[in-house]
Amino acid sequence: MNYLITGGAGFIGSHLAETLIAYGHHVTVLDDLSTGDMNNIRHLLERDRFHFTEGAVENSGNLQSLVTWSDTVFHLAATVGVELVVKEPVRTIQTNVHATEKILECAGQKHKRVVLASTSEVYGRAASEVFRETDDLLIGPPTHSRWAYAASKALDEYLALAYQKEGKIETTIVRFFNTVGPRQTGRYGMVLPRFVSRALQNEPLEVYGTGNQSRCFCHVADTVEALLALENARNTDGEIVNIGSTDSVTINQLAERVKSLLNSHSEVRHIPYNEAYEPGFEDMPRRMPDIDKIHKITKWQPQRSLDDIILEVASYFKNE
Ligand code: UDP
Repeated sequence: MNYLITGGAGFIGSHLAETLIAYGHHVTVLDDLSTGDMNNIRHLLERDRFHFTEGAVENSGNLQSLVTWSDTVFHLAATVGVELVVKEPVRTIQTNVHATEKILECAGQKHKRVVLASTSEVYGRAASEVFRETDDLLIGPPTHSRWAYAASKALDEYLALAYQKEGKIETTIVRFFNTVGPRQTGRYGMVLPRFVSRALQNEPLEVYGTGNQSRCFCHVADTVEALLALENARNTDGEIVNIGSTDSVTINQLAERVKSLLNSHSEVRHIPYNEAYEPGFEDMPRRMPDIDKIHKITKWQPQRSLDDIILEVASYFKNE
């Protein structure tokens, strides 16, 4: 099979590319290297079933031919990280909306299959115990830049489903929940790579807010297995599917876990949200996916524990 992966030099995209190549597929990565990194895919460049095209989806002159070549497009190109979203809201909205518009337009010309990467952010500020694909999206006001990410991704979802409804494409929408693992950078705000890299240097771990907010961290290898399982299932057209772990940890617990596993002397510091991000910043108190749907369709469930993830990320940083 031929796969086009937009954003394929990024963290999740590069792992997906590697796995698809290992299964004997042909992969083309389209990435503008704005947040993606050549180092993530350098080892794939010598493989003859792998091709890399540098460029932004929305400006790419050969997008139609790349889409036409592919059997499935994994559209992963998007703005990443809450810090980047808050700092660059125009770029966030433009990348998320324009790139997806282009991909869907090209896919619609040739009736292609598109797997659209979305995010648990779309559930917004709802304080539910678990998030189900059928839940309402409770997105906060436009005066808070954070919600620009959620709103633009939600629009992407509506647009993809509109194309599907009009019979122009086949699409599956995946909502990723806190995916982590080797190659993820802490540069754009993600807590786990930050804590691990700082703990290795015995530098302070900065916990934002009270640290009682909780998250479920899913190993990227599990996420990739979920994507492949959905791809093989082939009965997911027009569906929205959560992908994530259900093993919940507070950010305070995460800091302690990282310190103890890595024998670190890092101090744990609490920083108010308005200093960490911007005045009025709103965080989610908890974020856990309901993964019944994907489990019913594919039998998938995450396999790697948080401790395994922390140790693997630490060894990645040590060897970098
Ligand atoms: N966070 C933190 N310290 C950091 C980065 C993030 O305490 O250096 C917090 C952040 O405020 C959030 C949680 O960790 O409550 C997860 O943040 P991340 O950016 O990894 O993911 P998301 O906010 O998208 O769940």
